[in-house]
Amino acid sequence: MRRHCQRCETEVSASYEHPTLRRWVKGYFFLGVPFIPFIPIIGSEFVVMLPLTMLYLSGMGPALSVIRAPASCDECGADVEKAGWTPPAAPAPPA
Ligand SMILES: [Zn+2]
Repeated sequence: MRRHCQRCETEVSASYEHPTLRRWVKGYFFLGVPFIPFIPIIGSEFVVMLPLTMLYLSGMGPALSVIRAPASCDECGADVEKAGWTPPAAPAPPA
């Protein structure tokens, strides 16, 4: 993927640290969707379902950290902004 690197001051190739893990972690957020209709059962079941729900929610932090980690420049390793970011305009020369 092509991104603008502020340190190299040019468009460079960039990549995520764990591209495969990142793809799998996106599915993690949808693991709970099939269980939404069973929320009353999960809420009333304190031995199996509630501990499993807590276990699932405790994985949310690491999953979010993988998804939110920025891509880095392949040249210098600096974090690069998301696509669509444009470098700030150069300051106007003094009159
Ligand atoms: Zn760079």
